[in-house]
This record gives sequence, C-alpha cells and structure tokens, in this order.
Amino acid sequence: MRKKGICHCSVCGVSSELKKVCMNKAYGDYLCEKHREQYKKYGKFLDNSPRGVFDPNEIRKYNDYAEIDTYDSHGNLVTTFKIDLDDVDKLGNKKWRTVFKLDKPYLFTGNQKSERIYFHRLVVGNPEQMQVDHISGDTSDNRKQNLRIVTLQENMCNLKKKKSCTSGVRGVSFDKKRNNWKVDFTYKKQRFYLKSFPTIEEAVYLRYLCECYFNKELRNTTNDEIILSHINKLSDKQKSEIENYLNEKLNTSKDGVEKI
Ligand SMILES: [Zn+2]
Repeated sequence: MRKKGICHCSVCGVSSELKKVCMNKAYGDYLCEKHREQYKKYGKFLDNSPRGVFDPNEIRKYNDYAEIDTYDSHGNLVTTFKIDLDDVDKLGNKKWRTVFKLDKPYLFTGNQKSERIYFHRLVVGNPEQMQVDHISGDTSDNRKQNLRIVTLQENMCNLKKKKSCTSGVRGVSFDKKRNNWKVDFTYKKQRFYLKSFPTIEEAVYLRYLCECYFNKELRNTTNDEIILSHINKLSDKQKSEIENYLNEKLNTSKDGVEKI
C-alpha cells in the first residue's frame, strides 16, 4: 500500500503522514506502530482502529454544544458525551475515558481511582461533599442545563427504577405470593408501609402521589410517560379512593396530597 512515498498501515489504513508506518518483514506488509506491536506480541491484530491509547479524544463542536468521544483500550468508541461549548476548555489536554456505574457512563480523567476527576463535577465547580445530579437521568449529557448540585439525600430521589423492577415503574412490583401489586416508598430513610392493589395502575398512582408529595420538584420525571399511561386508565373514583387512603395514612389534613 504505497503511493507517492506515502504508505498506509495495512490493518487500520492510517497514513504515514499522520503516524509512523513501516514495512514489516515478518508480516509482509505495511504496519503502524500499534499494529506492529500487536502482531509481534500476539501474532494477530486485536482491532483495526488507527487510534492509539495516547491519541487525544476527538472533540466536535456544533452550533450550541460540543461532543467528546471516549474509547476502549483497542481504540473502539465507547461513549459520546455532550458538553457545553464554553466547557470545552475544561477538558484540557487530558485523556478522558468512560467509567460505568450501574450501567451508566460517566466521563472522567485520571488513572488511580482516588485521583479520578469527573467532568460533570468540574462543570459545576466540583462542590465538596455535594452530589451532582444529571436531571434527565442521561449521564452522557454533561451540559449545564442537565446538571444540578444536590445533597446525597436529594440525589437518591432521582435514582431511576431498578433493573429488576417487575412493573417498569420504580417502587411498584408484583407480589407473586399474594398475587397483587405492592408499593414501596422510602423517604429520608423512613420506609412507608403502604397497601397493595389488584391492578398495577392503582399501585403506580399511589407511588406517584408519594413521590409528588415528598420529593416535589426533585422527583425523577424521566419515566412519566409510562407512569401517566397507567394513571390515565384509572377512573376518577379509583383515583379519589387512593388519594383519600394516602391522606389518611399521612394524616395530612392541612397540605393534603397533590393531585393530578
Ligand atoms: Zn495500524
């Protein structure tokens, strides 16, 4: 693969104008340094990406936001993160990578775990002893509009439904033994013992009322489409029964429970 003095790696195609590419006698074709090393070490190629571990992250700027890509050790794309244009400078010339926590990607730099710097925290000034929450639940969106500083307690309110959740709605699950839908709700470490229902819709409504009443504007709204589709199946009578139940349970004659 040689033309006009320029050659290309026969595996990844990178040009000798960009990286060192040499004829490899053992392999019998042109190879970049990364693929030469792979061939030497493993006798085969582990990827066909020209990207090396020391290459900078690709950053793309658009009209009103920017994107940064992260890669695995073979140079394959892992995550594309969205950031604000005026935060691009905060990336510096560091190497940024993805760490997954509960299956969610977080953009970070630094090698040792204790030295990790998370980009979403940098964006809001790295507030000590405070959590930074992704409002939409999408941790690949690190634009300021999607970030807010909260206490740990507040952040717990915004945790999305557990994966094992049988209903698709956080805090609502099917009780096989009793053949009904139960509602779990915990606020400030206080667990509420709430009634169960024969239908998922009733259980979802009770859970929803609890969230609105206690978590207020901090409740996670990402799942609202599913939640509302359940609630909309309920009759007014069913709804008011559940509202009355919760009002009695909470003994809240003054505030009452927020209705929809
Ligand atoms: Zn190569």
